[in-house]
Amino acid sequence: MREFPLEQIRNIGIIAHIDAGKTTTTERILYYTGKKYKIGEVHEGTAEMDWMVQERERGVTITSAATTCFWQPRYSSLKYQINIIDTPGHIDFTAEVQRSLRVLDGGVLIFDGVAGVEPQSETVFHQSQKFHVPLIAFVNKMDRLGASFEKSFDSIRERLTKSAFAIQLPIGAESQFKGVIDLIEEKSFVYLDDLGKEIKEEPIPESLVKEVEERRKELIEAIVVNHDDLMNKYLEGEKITPEEIRKALREEVIKGRIIPVLVGSSLKNKGVQLLLDAICYYLPSPIDIPPVQGENPETNEPEQRKTGDEEPFAGLVFKIATDPYMGRLGYIRVYSGVLKAGSYAYNPRTRAKERVGRLVRMHANKREAIEEIHSGDIAAIIGIKQASTGDTLCDPDKPILLESITFPDPVISMAIEPKTKADREKMGIALSKFAEEDPTFKFKTDEETGEVIISGMGEFHLEIIIDRLKREFGVEVRAGAPQVAYKETITQPVEVEGKYIHQSGGRGQYGHCWLKFEPLERGKGFEFVDQIKGGVIPKEYIPAVEKGLKEAMESGVIAGYPVVDIRATLFDGSYHEVDSSEVAFKIAATRALREGVKKANPILLEPVMKVEVVTPEKFLGDVIGDLNSRQAQIQSTGERGPSKVIDAFVPLREMFGYMTALRSLTEGRASFTMELSHYSPVPSNIAEAIIKEKNLT
Ligand code: GDP
Repeated sequence: MREFPLEQIRNIGIIAHIDAGKTTTTERILYYTGKKYKIGEVHEGTAEMDWMVQERERGVTITSAATTCFWQPRYSSLKYQINIIDTPGHIDFTAEVQRSLRVLDGGVLIFDGVAGVEPQSETVFHQSQKFHVPLIAFVNKMDRLGASFEKSFDSIRERLTKSAFAIQLPIGAESQFKGVIDLIEEKSFVYLDDLGKEIKEEPIPESLVKEVEERRKELIEAIVVNHDDLMNKYLEGEKITPEEIRKALREEVIKGRIIPVLVGSSLKNKGVQLLLDAICYYLPSPIDIPPVQGENPETNEPEQRKTGDEEPFAGLVFKIATDPYMGRLGYIRVYSGVLKAGSYAYNPRTRAKERVGRLVRMHANKREAIEEIHSGDIAAIIGIKQASTGDTLCDPDKPILLESITFPDPVISMAIEPKTKADREKMGIALSKFAEEDPTFKFKTDEETGEVIISGMGEFHLEIIIDRLKREFGVEVRAGAPQVAYKETITQPVEVEGKYIHQSGGRGQYGHCWLKFEPLERGKGFEFVDQIKGGVIPKEYIPAVEKGLKEAMESGVIAGYPVVDIRATLFDGSYHEVDSSEVAFKIAATRALREGVKKANPILLEPVMKVEVVTPEKFLGDVIGDLNSRQAQIQSTGERGPSKVIDAFVPLREMFGYMTALRSLTEGRASFTMELSHYSPVPSNIAEAIIKEKNLT
């Protein structure tokens, strides 16, 4: 039996620029929803969502977990279940943010009331728009020196969206920040203590009456345009009730037409209860979102699943975590149907059934064993065996493959070596675990040197991995300098012959193929075309050819980087009745690829980052000069409030240590974000040096 009707479930993420107060706000939410009894502050290192030790020390949240709490809003008789999906705030982890955005229905965007919109708020805002996630905004830190709701609100309007409308106003600011005015109810809520427990409803202060009227008018007018009944009332001068406003505003938020803006100070416990109210009032429930799309894994025909317990079961595993007590945990968002403990679910990727032993719901301070997860809900499967992040689990009789979560390839790598030889095996186990939990982290052993190479999304990402090795596994490593994860590709078509033939006495080896390699568009990866006619190569050996090609591409040809963006067409070859084998064809294909790539004018590709720097004007010249010395292509310089914004494309190889460089250049006053934009050819002199260093040809 479901405890909460679907209408009363909220799956939300709290999305923010690092340091805007996501952790503190989550903490306070858990406190007020009664599941947590002590207020822990981030700087004391007790925040509940920050499970991992080094996250605590760094004060950032890296992994995404789901925590459940319950809330009854002020003007409602209903209680809601809120599942909070934790999202990371660091730029290296945008893939994690995207992963969480896939499974949540609504988001709370948090801003620092002093800084307003910061570079990364834009990144996460655009991502949430891409995934059509309805949002509410919370201007936090109103108690800080220099906090201004008006400025922050204007920056949201100017830099993010004109759909932002204030539904609250602050009473006072900085140390005089006392409370919040609810524009819909036209009431003030004044906080009498710093724990936010005693709240007094008061009339709106005289000095704010005019502003309240103006902002309220803006809000109401934005709402009524799409609601004829309310529009008529408005035009007739009739009073629209707060309930009517909330109901209509809810529709507007879900349709993505309005982003309500709230205000408060999580640290000082002001405004958090009203934020919880708004989460329940305005963010979508699982039935407000469109049916999830997928395809039938047998027929590849598109299919969809509607939210509802009577539908066939379908869910997406959005996170694999390893818990010291419970082992492997698979967090799942159930879109349709019901998943029962003790049952089996089908995984279309592995084509196998997965046993669903026990199910657990995570609360702030306890784990609750549950018997079933219903549509629209989020929980974790304990001891999940095969599924990995992005996998679908579904009803074995009604299979569906939901669109998987796509992750960018790692852009940076580093050689590591355990300080003691004995730790080698332990390190391998640890790295496998990390790679499984985090699809943007990869590792491999370099065949030539025996070195272990780890790769990820940025310097910080790999630093965390090294840190975790030490803390969680007691493995200390020596790490090399971070390196760019280059790729190899070809620039012209070639035809090559690949042969592996040994026929001297006894059973021999015979593999022989002709392949054509052609360059593909950037980002297309690999295409294999089988044009064998008349059985010149028997069918059973063709997959071996493809496999041989893939393996050879993985280890690279000219400099040991993966080969990408090529089409391989197998068009001729021969075989031997007795001596041919899969292995022989695989080796023949490997040889063909190696030779083919060398002949097809190979080049190296490098990640080019989209970099945005925000700096006070007086450092603009220095920042641009420095970027130019890093071979940046400056796209634009603009204004953002009192600051200058520079947008540029810069090769990743020039961005190592940029954080430190920028700090010292600008007395720590500038900030930057970067994300992978595209891959482009490495200039030939630099490519030569890289190839020479690798010395593989
Ligand atoms: P996150 O990186 O977004 O998770 O942000 P945190 O919650 O870790 O907060 C970053 C810092 O800002 C911490 O030192 C918090 O104590 C502080 N902070 C968070 N909320 C507030 C607030 O409302 N007012 C003030 N003055 N500081 C805050």
